Amino acid sequence: MSTHFARDASPVRRRVLISGASFAGPALAFWLHRYGFAVTIVERAAALRSGGYPIDVRGTAIDVVERMGLLPGLRVAHIGSKRLTFIDGEGRALAEIGPEMMTGGRDVEVPRGVLTKMLVESTRDDVIYRFGTSIEHLVDRGEDVEVTFSDGGRESFDVVIGADGLHSNTRALVFGPESQFEYPIGFCFAGFLTPNTLGLSREAVCYNVPGRVAVLYAVGERPETVHAFLAFAHPRLSEQEARDHDRQRRLTAEAFADGGWKTAELVEAMLAADDFYFDTVQQIRMLSWSRGRVALVGDAAHAPSFLTGQGTSLALVGAYVLAGELASHADHTAAFAAYDRKLRPFVELNQARVDQGRATLIPVTQQQLEERNRSFADMTSSDMTSSDNTSGDMAPIDTADSAAAPTVDFRSALSLEDYDVTVTRS
Ligand SMILES: Cc1cc2nc3c(=O)[nH]c(=O)nc-3n(C[C@H](O)[C@H](O)[C@H](O)COP(=O)(O)OP(=O)(O)OC[C@H]3O[C@@H](n4cnc5c(N)ncnc54)[C@H](O)[C@@H]3O)c2cc1C
Repeated sequence: MSTHFARDASPVRRRVLISGASFAGPALAFWLHRYGFAVTIVERAAALRSGGYPIDVRGTAIDVVERMGLLPGLRVAHIGSKRLTFIDGEGRALAEIGPEMMTGGRDVEVPRGVLTKMLVESTRDDVIYRFGTSIEHLVDRGEDVEVTFSDGGRESFDVVIGADGLHSNTRALVFGPESQFEYPIGFCFAGFLTPNTLGLSREAVCYNVPGRVAVLYAVGERPETVHAFLAFAHPRLSEQEARDHDRQRRLTAEAFADGGWKTAELVEAMLAADDFYFDTVQQIRMLSWSRGRVALVGDAAHAPSFLTGQGTSLALVGAYVLAGELASHADHTAAFAAYDRKLRPFVELNQARVDQGRATLIPVTQQQLEERNRSFADMTSSDMTSSDNTSGDMAPIDTADSAAAPTVDFRSALSLEDYDVTVTRS
């Protein structure tokens, strides 16, 4: 791999505003700075959050973090989960997924706060970060975008990028209500920390009844607390349910009222949790990720849902491609078009994985649940890996448009271009 960068030779650097400092935002800032752009990031949260539930970096996204020089640090932080065990109502193991399938090969799994911190630290000296700030209003004036911030400040930028997640503020301001783009998967989930009463170490346990799942995820050796998730079938949240946390707690409690196993204990913990969060399981599907001088990246553009396990990787890869295309084109319209054209097949391939994730994690009928348990019980870990890698929805995709790319799996189905660019002003 060789990547050559020609720094901005012109006296005026293109100014980019990014909304959101999680994965997509700082990764985009990293590359844009390398290409000579002047980057500002606004983040609604007052500060970085540490810890958090585990996320995966896989396939092509591993190539991205390797090019950023972050892979060795991520390897050190790799959780190395040993297994995911499906259990019955008595807590007995029914089937198990081994480490190869949880994060195989070169892939890494780290607490989300670790990756965010690494991304932000790698850009902190070169990028302006403004925590506790949001975009309140923006006007695309043709030659630039005038932005009014929540702190009352006003500034103009050449382009604005929304990297502000599933419920993107930038998307709502520029493209309209989220309801136009949401693709519901039919579930809601609650997340919270709870004491590790089972003594779990670097592993997850998963208890199902049809249409519901309780997951406990232990990060590290016998941590004091584990990440708990309670997910249940619920087609769509009403507006009130989406706003009202007490209502969300009650919905979750009702869904698990007759749940079995330790769900009564978990419901008690959920009702008392001060770190409770709740959301619908949904994807974002848009026909275009840009309008005028504003574009979206990561979950804001194309959230695949956690059932695919690919949201973080798509965010990192999308950031790499968007930065490269902005740097390669003086005209932002051409850059956004190329970004869309090159990334979209990879996104769609990964979004399509949601059905497989749903069938694995939350079978909705007793028959599907039994089939899931049987199939995992029958498989050895290595069989599982190979069957996963040869499933029907793989396709070769190459950003470089090469004619005969080898067939690769969905995680690696996009080959990174080497952006060798001289930056010019739009
Ligand atoms: C429970 C759960 C488990 C998951 N597990 C996995 C997994 O195993 N593997 C995986 O790859 N993915 C997983 N995901 C998905 C993954 O977390 C997302 O796909 C990923 O975080 C998307 O990154 P992003 O940077 O696009 O957006 P986000 O990480 O959502 O970041 C958006 C950022 O924008 C900020 N923001 C929001 N609104 C504003 C505003 N108005 N102004 C300024 N800033 C704003 C937010 O504070 C946040 O920092 C999981 C998600 C959940 C909920």
